Amino acid sequence: MSAAPLCDGQGRAVTYLRLSLTARCNFRCSYCSPSPDAGTDAITRDDAARLVRLFAGMGVRRVRLTGGEPTLRRDLPDIAADVAATPGIEEVALTTNGQRLAELAAPLRRAGVSRLNVSLDTLAPERLEALAGRAADHARILAGIAAAGQAGFASLKLNVVVVRGQNEAELGDLCRFAWGHGAVPRFIELMPFGAGEPVPTLEVKQLLQAQGVALVPDDTRGWGPARHMRGSSAGLSGLVGFIGAMTESFCQDCNRIRVGADGALRSCLGGRDRVPLLPLLRDGASDEALAVAVRAGLLRKGVQHEMGPGAALLPMAGVGG
Ligand code: SAM
Ligand code: SF4
Repeated sequence: MSAAPLCDGQGRAVTYLRLSLTARCNFRCSYCSPSPDAGTDAITRDDAARLVRLFAGMGVRRVRLTGGEPTLRRDLPDIAADVAATPGIEEVALTTNGQRLAELAAPLRRAGVSRLNVSLDTLAPERLEALAGRAADHARILAGIAAAGQAGFASLKLNVVVVRGQNEAELGDLCRFAWGHGAVPRFIELMPFGAGEPVPTLEVKQLLQAQGVALVPDDTRGWGPARHMRGSSAGLSGLVGFIGAMTESFCQDCNRIRVGADGALRSCLGGRDRVPLLPLLRDGASDEALAVAVRAGLLRKGVQHEMGPGAALLPMAGVGG
């Protein structure tokens, strides 16, 4: 189907779909608080393929597969291959906690995933349990990152959520670790989806400099909200990404749309509006009917997110970050 390009109510073009394949997770990150009884995954492989075809027909060019933990789905490589084969889709990306990556990095790369983000908040195995729960296995995550380095992804990023009192003394080491593994470190301000106190991006930059990372401006922009600087330290150098979700305004150039693990469209991560698409799919709705529902939901998208203090947001694990 080809149709008029997708735009939200503020006139921003939508070119990037974040598709959460499951609300289940093998970790219990304190700031994300996934539900322990997330149940079975509502969205099927066929649903995912149909929705991606629909969005590609309306101008979406990049899809990120996320969760919950997307690698818990046995059909993840098949879903990735379907997405990669969809006419119009130029890039398939994946975000994972890395625990199952050692065995999956090569199959996912073969399936057509070209860009990979791995979450790694700490280099200290003993700190991982407090951040991510008892099931998180530091050695397996590091093996996953090494396998990802070998698999030849066009882009490898390490996502670090900076949590006050937990990992802010490690930011320089995390930078050097990422560069040493051919990856770009990205420091994310904690958003109010669970426990923990954020560290503002400005302070993260100061901490990095205090921890031996020299930073200079760099205007690299990717598809997402990250802003970059170029850093160097101890004979290593590379880009550093910053996602100032709480203290920096990036909503004005938002190009994203989300479909949660429940098959509902969310026009904004930091909002509560949902458009359930699965009932339409199950009722045999045409692409035209689905497109009408999607466009109506996007028209309600506000100028900016509602993630202020005390905001009651939809759970992060079901939305996919
Ligand atoms: N399970 C995968 C993972 O952790 O990488 C993918 C889903 S997770 C929801 C996507 C990203 O959101 C991760 O990089 C995670 O660190 C980040 N995230 C989760 N909760 C967050 C929060 N409260 N604030 C900022 N980032 C958060
Ligand atoms: Fe799971 Fe990712 Fe949430 Fe951590 S951030 S609990 S790994 S979904």
